[in-house]
Amino acid sequence: MKSKLSEISTVIIVNKSREPKTIQIKSKHLSRLRHYAAIVVGVIVILSVTVVYLRSQNAQQEEEKDRLMAQITKLKIAIPPPAIPQTKTNTAQNYIQSIEAKLQKINDYLKKRGLKGFSNKAVGGNGNTEGAKLTDEETYSLYDEYLSRLVHSVAFTPMGYPRISSLTSMFGYRSDPFNSASAEFHPGIDFRGAVGDEAHCTANGKVVFAGWYGGYGNCVRIAHANSYETLYGHLSRITVKVGQEVTVGQKIGEVGSTGHSTGAHLHYEVRLNGKPINPIKFLTLNN
Ligand SMILES: [Zn+2]
Repeated sequence: MKSKLSEISTVIIVNKSREPKTIQIKSKHLSRLRHYAAIVVGVIVILSVTVVYLRSQNAQQEEEKDRLMAQITKLKIAIPPPAIPQTKTNTAQNYIQSIEAKLQKINDYLKKRGLKGFSNKAVGGNGNTEGAKLTDEETYSLYDEYLSRLVHSVAFTPMGYPRISSLTSMFGYRSDPFNSASAEFHPGIDFRGAVGDEAHCTANGKVVFAGWYGGYGNCVRIAHANSYETLYGHLSRITVKVGQEVTVGQKIGEVGSTGHSTGAHLHYEVRLNGKPINPIKFLTLNN
């Protein structure tokens, strides 16, 4: 069947190098083609607008993100909360190290007096806290226990002066005050004093002798911890009894000149395992 002329449209394709071409197509197809073209253009326009819109949205979000990041940075600088507990810990650590150093020093003093001293390994004296992490409470409890032992040791170790006065004769060999031609061994220290001056024990302990003791005249001997003993000689008066518990600083008698003595003074000895040792080491902590 032949188409009517009005239903046919002629399309001319113009090309520079070639002859123009003419194509005849049905008019309804051409109008449909126009319709499609309009739809395609419309879609392109909508997509373009969407892309532009999304891009601007994205830019806004980036801007907001930058603004928030800047704010976070500012806040981080303004608030340094972890620094405070850190400093506290460091201060506590410093104190613990200082305490350890002092305990070590006390230990050294005790060792110089022939005492064993204490092992403070448990409280980190030798840096052993690295291995076993202790809680603060455990650490403080160990220090407390350590100091209790130290207090006990200080109380029971002969220390200081049996009376506050100058020394008139030191420990060791000296010329015999009764025979200038020969030398005698002086097993203690003599303290200046007048008859009736008080003599005090230099550590906690138990009286093991109170009475006449040959050349020592009226004499008191007190037993202390760690096989130590102190002896007080030439007393004019004895004010303690054998078996009596005495505390450091307590009066045990009065200065005199009894026994092998040329004048009133206090003869003081420190003995370790029954053997006289130089009491000078025990007079102050700085030896
Ligand atoms: Zn003496």
